[in-house]
Amino acid sequence: MDCKPLTFFLFLFFISLTESTIYPSNEVNLLDSKASQGELGWISSPSHGWEEISGVDEHYTPIRTFQVCNIMEYSQNNWLRTNWIPRKSAQKIYVELKFTLRDCNSIPLVLGTCKETFNLHYLETDEDQGAKFREHQFSKIDTIAADESFTQSDLGDRILKLNTEVREVGPITKKGFYLAFQDVGACVALVSVRVYFKKCPFMVKNLAMFPDTVPMDSQSLVEVRGSCVNNSKEEEPPKMYCSTEGEWLVPIGKCLCNIGYEEREVSCQACRPGFYKASSGNLACSKCPPHSYAHQEGSVHCDCEKNYFRAEGDPASMACTRPPSAPGNVISVINETSVILDWSWPADTGGRKDVTFNVVCKRCWPGPRQCEPCRGAVRFLPRASGLTNTTVTVADLLAHTNYTFEIEAQNGVSSLAPALRQFAAVTITTNQAAPSQVTVIRKDRTSRNSISLSWLEPERPNGIILDYEVKYYEKQEQETSYTILRSKGTNVTLSGLKPDTTYLLQIRARTAAGYGSSSRKFEFETSPDSFSISSENSQVVLIAISSAVAIILLTVLLYVVIGRFCGSSKSKHPDEKRLHFGNGHLRLPGIRTYVDPHTYEDPSQAVHEFAKELDASCIAIDKVVGAGEFGEVCSGRLRLPSKKEICVAIKTLKTGYTEKQRRDFLSEASIMGQFDHPNIIRLEGVVTRSKPVMIVTEYMENGSLDSFLRKHDAQFTVIQLVGMLRGIASGMKYLSDMGYVHRDLAARNILVNSNLVCKVSDFGLSRVLEDDPEAAYTTRGGKIPIRWTAPEAIAYRKFTSASDVWSYGIVLWEVMSYGERPYWEMSNQDVIKAVDEGYRLPPPMDCPAALYQLMLDCWQKDRNNRPKFEQIVSILDKLIRNPSSLKITANTTSRPANLLLDRNSTDITSFRTMGDWLESVRTLPCKEAFSGVSYSSCDTLAKTSAEDFKKIGVTIVGPQKKVVSSIKALETHTKDGPVPV
Ligand code: AMP
Repeated sequence: MDCKPLTFFLFLFFISLTESTIYPSNEVNLLDSKASQGELGWISSPSHGWEEISGVDEHYTPIRTFQVCNIMEYSQNNWLRTNWIPRKSAQKIYVELKFTLRDCNSIPLVLGTCKETFNLHYLETDEDQGAKFREHQFSKIDTIAADESFTQSDLGDRILKLNTEVREVGPITKKGFYLAFQDVGACVALVSVRVYFKKCPFMVKNLAMFPDTVPMDSQSLVEVRGSCVNNSKEEEPPKMYCSTEGEWLVPIGKCLCNIGYEEREVSCQACRPGFYKASSGNLACSKCPPHSYAHQEGSVHCDCEKNYFRAEGDPASMACTRPPSAPGNVISVINETSVILDWSWPADTGGRKDVTFNVVCKRCWPGPRQCEPCRGAVRFLPRASGLTNTTVTVADLLAHTNYTFEIEAQNGVSSLAPALRQFAAVTITTNQAAPSQVTVIRKDRTSRNSISLSWLEPERPNGIILDYEVKYYEKQEQETSYTILRSKGTNVTLSGLKPDTTYLLQIRARTAAGYGSSSRKFEFETSPDSFSISSENSQVVLIAISSAVAIILLTVLLYVVIGRFCGSSKSKHPDEKRLHFGNGHLRLPGIRTYVDPHTYEDPSQAVHEFAKELDASCIAIDKVVGAGEFGEVCSGRLRLPSKKEICVAIKTLKTGYTEKQRRDFLSEASIMGQFDHPNIIRLEGVVTRSKPVMIVTEYMENGSLDSFLRKHDAQFTVIQLVGMLRGIASGMKYLSDMGYVHRDLAARNILVNSNLVCKVSDFGLSRVLEDDPEAAYTTRGGKIPIRWTAPEAIAYRKFTSASDVWSYGIVLWEVMSYGERPYWEMSNQDVIKAVDEGYRLPPPMDCPAALYQLMLDCWQKDRNNRPKFEQIVSILDKLIRNPSSLKITANTTSRPANLLLDRNSTDITSFRTMGDWLESVRTLPCKEAFSGVSYSSCDTLAKTSAEDFKKIGVTIVGPQKKVVSSIKALETHTKDGPVPV
């Protein structure tokens, strides 16, 4: 046997073989001849057929090969059988053969039949059969031919011709099998035999683990469920298919890393410190946003630093934020009783965009800072809270009032940190407001060419009405041309009008604050040119005229007869009563006259004429607020059908009353019901048909003026006090215009509402004085509030509007002294005596000189010298219009405890020099009176002119009077003791 050439080519071949020893990962070897270090121990049959040969590769690693080349002999049948190969889980196996084969043509002198193929067989068995080998048991797999064969010259050129053939076998069902190589006369070297099966190898796909999987033998795929890697969860069940070729196909579904974990190197790993992951998903962990931290691994969120917060709904990726700083640069622009507040965006928005602003309104009083939240009437435009712009308009504030507005910037985390909230504040004082609308206009007289009208002052004048603008035009002209008149008073006559023409008219009031809004349009008609009577009506008209003439004649006749025979008898006709109660007052056109309910024979008739009967079911009583002469006074609510509920005061008549008491009780309603004025308490109605009998009036939140002032001692500005006084004077003017004499005008009988509007109340007749605890019996038997009553009324019951003016002077004093008791603790007798002798109350502390002068004027002994209420209103208006006139006070020292001024000796305007004046007041201890100024003796003082007096600050009547009062006080102290009465 010529082995030399074969061995030679085998050596060359090994180089190539070692290059292919790395197998694909999806192939699992069952047999690899090359891996065997020792003898393979395969069975060769016959034994001189296949021959096992040892060699080395280029690394000198030994390998085992088989060869056969019996080409010189005939009928070759050489078998080589492998050892038993267990199939494991494989069903389908692959056989890879690497071999070389000699080209028959290249062999000279071939004796037998030279072949260029060999056969591959297999045999399945459940167990190793050892050396037992029977050819016929084997099944042929294939005939293996060389793709490349080699020749002798090839060997000389050292060209390698290695063949690799792979055959599939299967399905194998038994536990193992043998392979056999049958040579039938070829020259072949079997370099390596590898038997393997294919699998789908372990794989992590979409964070799901798929195990090693052996495919099926058939064409079908194996469906494999994956399991999620650690720290992840299925989003959709992960699945893949293992193909027969050991390949993973069609991945479906996936797993997602849990919160706090991110995907790294096909696994889910915890977020590093300083990072977080709030949602599951295959996103990377995020860095903690500003002002937050995460110290732990695997954080699902970052915690906020101190004083930083996260609002509900803030995403974890958002920076932690804090409440904004206060808004800056608050600017207020006051327009009458509204104010526009403007501010700038806070310097620090806290890191958020959802900044809004809230404005809180507080009403404040001077002195020790006292504020309370503004009431509901104040309007914010567009609103008070949740403002997105840096401006708001606050309307419907009270005039001349101090307010503080707190503006807070808020953002989404403000509510989490109340302690860090900041606001900016601004304090303002409102101005005067324009007057409200004129609502009541009356036609007093019409002629062919003129119309006389009068109207009521607007309910809220908000200052002194300078004049009224009356605009009118012909209705059919549609305002294309119109006429404007101005009127100082509340009446006007429009003249030069066309006869029988309809005119439209509007009135608006003007104050220093400007025009109020115009009234609604009122329609008036002038009289026709003449009566034109159509023929068919003439007879009827004639009869009507004759009847009217007859009635007038009859009435005149009756009046004369009755007047003669029943001169003083009471009449029931209101018009006649007007004559009776005219009281010598000048009536204004269009203003009604007061009717004394006592002139009614049946007083309940008067009640029903002037007061509305209310159904008790419309009244809800809340609480008792005071005690009246006839029963309790309660606060409550009145809801009339289809009207808004209002707060009311309810006076009740206690049970067990006499008929006279009932009459007297209701007489107040009969009187009140006749009045309609913003400074007179308004009657809502009466309940007489059920019990308890009630009088229902508007509710005055601040109760009676005297106690109100005592409660708020020194808390109002002079303008506010004068405003209140003006209201009272205006109400009294209305009463006196109507011919009503109050008789008991005193601060305790004035009520104050929440807007500081004062209204005159407590009306009655004889009972007024019965019910007043201040009223005392006079020597003549009547009961009179001595300290408030004019001397002539005390002396001989001469009650007139002029005596009301005296009382008004006392009210003026009460107001300016914040509810001090007139004449303090002096007895009534002493008061009567002192006043009679010409002494008057001194100016209250810090009282403007002009107001004290007004008091003194009201206390003129001769009632004809006292001002009328109309004049008082006008004086007060002038003072309000010129507030600097109120700065000059009537005294500079503290309130005198028990001093009275002698009016007769204090009119210093009549003195040429100070010497004259001092002489007149019999000044004695001047030193003390003028201590602190540069006057040291009476002599120097006496030589001082009025001009000099001015230099030390005593410039006007009031303070000089105060000086006088001090001097007089000292004098009286020296002479007679403290009180000169
Ligand atoms: P009079 O019977 O008017 O003297 O009332 C007694 C007290 O009841 C008064 O001093 C007030 O405190 C209170 N009062 C009377 N009328 C009203 C009202 N309209 N609103 C509020 N309080 C009132």
